Amino acid sequence: MSAQPDSAVGNATLAFLAEPHNAYIGGKFTATSTADYFTVEDPSNGRIIAQLPECDATIVDAAVTAARRALEGPWARIRPADREKMLLDLAAAVERDADLLAEVVSLESGKSVTVARNVEIAGCIDWLRYYAGWATKIEGSTLATSIPVPPGSRHFAMTVREPVGVVGAIVPWNFPLLIAVWKLAPALACGCTIIIKPAEETPLSLLRFARLVDEIGIPSGVVNIVTGRGGTTGSALVNHPGIDKLTFTGSTEVGKLVGHAAVDRMARFTLELGGKSPMIVFADADENSAPLMAGLGMFFNSGQVCTSASRLLIERSVFERTLGSIAAVTDALTLGSGREASAQVQPLLSGRHRERVTNFIDRAVRDGGVRVAGTRPVPDEGFYVAPTIFRGLAPEAELVREEVFGPVVVAIPFDDADEAIRLANDTRYGLAASVWTNDLSRALSVSTALKAGTVWINTHNTLDVNVPFGGYKQSGIGKEHGRAALDAYLENKTIIMRYT
Ligand code: NAD
Repeated sequence: MSAQPDSAVGNATLAFLAEPHNAYIGGKFTATSTADYFTVEDPSNGRIIAQLPECDATIVDAAVTAARRALEGPWARIRPADREKMLLDLAAAVERDADLLAEVVSLESGKSVTVARNVEIAGCIDWLRYYAGWATKIEGSTLATSIPVPPGSRHFAMTVREPVGVVGAIVPWNFPLLIAVWKLAPALACGCTIIIKPAEETPLSLLRFARLVDEIGIPSGVVNIVTGRGGTTGSALVNHPGIDKLTFTGSTEVGKLVGHAAVDRMARFTLELGGKSPMIVFADADENSAPLMAGLGMFFNSGQVCTSASRLLIERSVFERTLGSIAAVTDALTLGSGREASAQVQPLLSGRHRERVTNFIDRAVRDGGVRVAGTRPVPDEGFYVAPTIFRGLAPEAELVREEVFGPVVVAIPFDDADEAIRLANDTRYGLAASVWTNDLSRALSVSTALKAGTVWINTHNTLDVNVPFGGYKQSGIGKEHGRAALDAYLENKTIIMRYT
């Protein structure tokens, strides 16, 4: 399939798009004999830019077999220092091809190419380097024992960390390469092998990344990529008995299916799921924060961020003034394609997703919501939705409770810290929250009372490779990033030896 020309991307990107795209299994980009294909669109104009095979259960089985063979073969004998070197080499290759990878991410997901380069690809490099360092630092412990039998005997006990085995990873479309690397880097550092299924909307950047895996000589079968829709390829991976551990990032609804399937056969699992994160603004917050609140907290990546601030709680005494400033900033955010350097908000992922988001807006209007930002027209071509803020919705309204995963926010007043905490925690989700205040003791007392995996103070939506991340309540199970992520890819074996 030939790519549609896009004058704003480089020739190397166009050449990559025009080539055939195949799954990466056992160290080969194999042309599969699948009956089905799916297409990838450029969200800025809806044009088809690639066609890929839908991997069925037989192809997924071949990937799991390749991963098992690698796990029990050469990969098991590779020294941790060599795994470290491979991850560092991979980081260097990503850095070399960063511009191309950023363009591919931007074309398939719609996001800003600048964000793709400076956040997504830069993040991939950071994560690969950070976990490269961990490969040589995995350790167990020795333990004191009081074992009474046989009488007079003495024992030595230790724990040994071992790779959990073959990992099945399923990732969403909003950060298609970065979220895959969040799983791949710790998995390889710990000595696991992995099969990754990208979202059907955004498989191209991960396939381009697989060429780098191949180029730097990571042994065949250690990394495998299977492409296809969730119900086919994803389901085959989740239900494959050869997978020892599942790691999933996506919606809470699909996360529950993954968790059930894992528990049925006692596979290990971690889930990074949805959110309805509150941003709590107290009267003493810095008055000049509106650009940061709207640009970074609410509408970064067009609101398609799991931790996006989608509930804006403002202390009543400053509600009108603060909401007015945030609404003015919101309506001034410029719309444009991912390749327009000046654009601050890009199109949504697809026509289907835009319809889902605009249906939320229509229902919020029907529920009595008043739009204080977001009524301006948007370009005809591309899947745009103007960043939108509502007020006047009841606590039980759909927009207050359900995740939109787009640029739509609901503003709610509160009277004091206790009410802010109660409103913030009144949700089935618990991914993140932010508190905006200059009062240090209030910042900490509210932070500790919030039922959320991450709480930011005077900022929102920032992550760090060394800092654990994961959800409370229905936002997930387990942690990614930092040392905490290693636990998800390691078993803990106990060895007890009687020595007298
Ligand atoms: P989704 O759950 O629809 O899809 C995520 C992935 O699961 C895709 O690869 C999809 O193909 C696959 N999938 C779908 N059905 C499946 C099935 N039955 N079996 C196996 N796999 C299946 O989510 P999405 O629309 O791609 O992403 C948006 C959601 O992801 C939002 O809820 C968002 O909050 C969440 N998310 C969470 C985080 C986090 O770190 N907590 C990060 C990004 C996105």
